[in-house]
Amino acid sequence: MINIETATYYTATKKYDLSFPSLEEDIDVDIVVIGGGFSGVNTALELAERGFKNIALLEARYLGFGGTGRNGGQIMAGIGHDLDKIKKDVGEDGVRAIFEISDQGADIIQARIDKYGIMADFCHGYGYMGYNARQAKTLRAWEKDFKSLNSRHEIRYLEGPEVKTIIGSDVYGSALLHMGGGHVHSLNLLLGEALALSGHGAKIFEYSPAVEVVYGDRVKVRTAKGSVTANKLLWACDSFLNRMEPELHRSTINTYAFQCMTEPLPDELIQRISPIRGAYSDIRPVIDYFRVTKENRLLFGSATPLIDHLPRDLKEWNRRLMLKVFPYLRDVKIDLAWGGPMACGANLFPQIGSLPGRPNVFYVQGYAGFGVTPSHIICKILAEGMAEGSPRYDLISSIRRATVVGKDQFRSLICTAGKTVHQVSGYWTGRR
Ligand SMILES: Cc1cc2nc3c(=O)[nH]c(=O)nc-3n(C[C@H](O)[C@H](O)[C@H](O)COP(=O)(O)OP(=O)(O)OC[C@H]3O[C@@H](n4cnc5c(N)ncnc54)[C@H](O)[C@@H]3O)c2cc1C
Repeated sequence: MINIETATYYTATKKYDLSFPSLEEDIDVDIVVIGGGFSGVNTALELAERGFKNIALLEARYLGFGGTGRNGGQIMAGIGHDLDKIKKDVGEDGVRAIFEISDQGADIIQARIDKYGIMADFCHGYGYMGYNARQAKTLRAWEKDFKSLNSRHEIRYLEGPEVKTIIGSDVYGSALLHMGGGHVHSLNLLLGEALALSGHGAKIFEYSPAVEVVYGDRVKVRTAKGSVTANKLLWACDSFLNRMEPELHRSTINTYAFQCMTEPLPDELIQRISPIRGAYSDIRPVIDYFRVTKENRLLFGSATPLIDHLPRDLKEWNRRLMLKVFPYLRDVKIDLAWGGPMACGANLFPQIGSLPGRPNVFYVQGYAGFGVTPSHIICKILAEGMAEGSPRYDLISSIRRATVVGKDQFRSLICTAGKTVHQVSGYWTGRR
């Protein structure tokens, strides 16, 4: 079982001592946002920056309680897992347009950090790692693709002994170094963004779960002790939606990811693990991913590759995987381990749009475990859609949401089947 209440690296090292009141009155606003993770806060901040000052955000627990406060902090390029999966919805041109947008996330995060002075420890340097010749070929293709976007960052394919210049591991034969990516303290990033949002005049409420929503020309959201009436509503609850909105509940299924954190390591050991003090992942359909932290710890993340289950001992589960990559860490102590759900749609691409027949009810969800960077792009586009509309909002919101049939009865079975298909298809997408 995963204890979602447990401490994480992020809660243990957060730099912002922020808290917001719970909602105990009836208020009237322009826009109400449900969910206080990257999606809710980012969209609200984008809207506030566009001049919408009358915004309320409701968070069921505390800001960052969801995936946003428990992820690996990996800043990776792209959106979704495989753009081919959305080709039938948006066509070749649409895929190209989305690919061009998809590299902008890290720069949006950097600009946010600079603009609001957020203490998020953004560290540049990302290694996409390959085990075999097929993956090496994929990484060479990615190098061309990424470079075609005219990134201002260094992007370089590495092979053989060169790989050791960015990582102290013998298991990889190739790597693609992308200096635009890297890692970030995601909870500090979120809290800094929330502070900026409240600086724009938005009202943020914690420990204020939405318990009832009534749609109409004006939307009414009730909490235990208060209510918000608004012109527009945004659902941003991702894997924590908990059946609150049946239409959205139907379109994703939750699978789980796990993280562990080592004790602080000596400088020399960190230098050996990661000469660039960066973040890494392999490129298999279900990745292992890891990074060093500012405090000289190694964060190592994983998910079950095939059979969906919750490991009994998260520390040991991740440690075993970590030792495959870094066998010389066998005597290192694991200080913390945690995990959390990730909402996945059938095409593994984030879902944005408005509910059918309800043009003032918007949603964002389904990052499929890949939401830190994508949420920053996707929510910019969603805010455009909620404000004045934009061609790229029209494009992305046109991607269909398939219903995940049987998700409530057969979650584990469906995830296992999905992972099997995903893993097998990795042989012809060059990821295995
Ligand atoms: C262990 C793990 C590791 C991950 N690693 C990475 C990574 O390294 N890189 C990456 O890109 N992505 C990663 N992800 C995915 C990423 O963290 C998520 O995609 C992203 O944070 C989703 O943000 P969100 O705001 O949409 O959802 P969340 O952060 O989950 O926020 C949703 C919020 O809605 C609130 N809520 C729910 N119901 C209600 C209600 N009724 N009323 C009010 N509030 C409500 C919840 O309390 C929650 O705080 C990881 C995820 C996990 C679980």
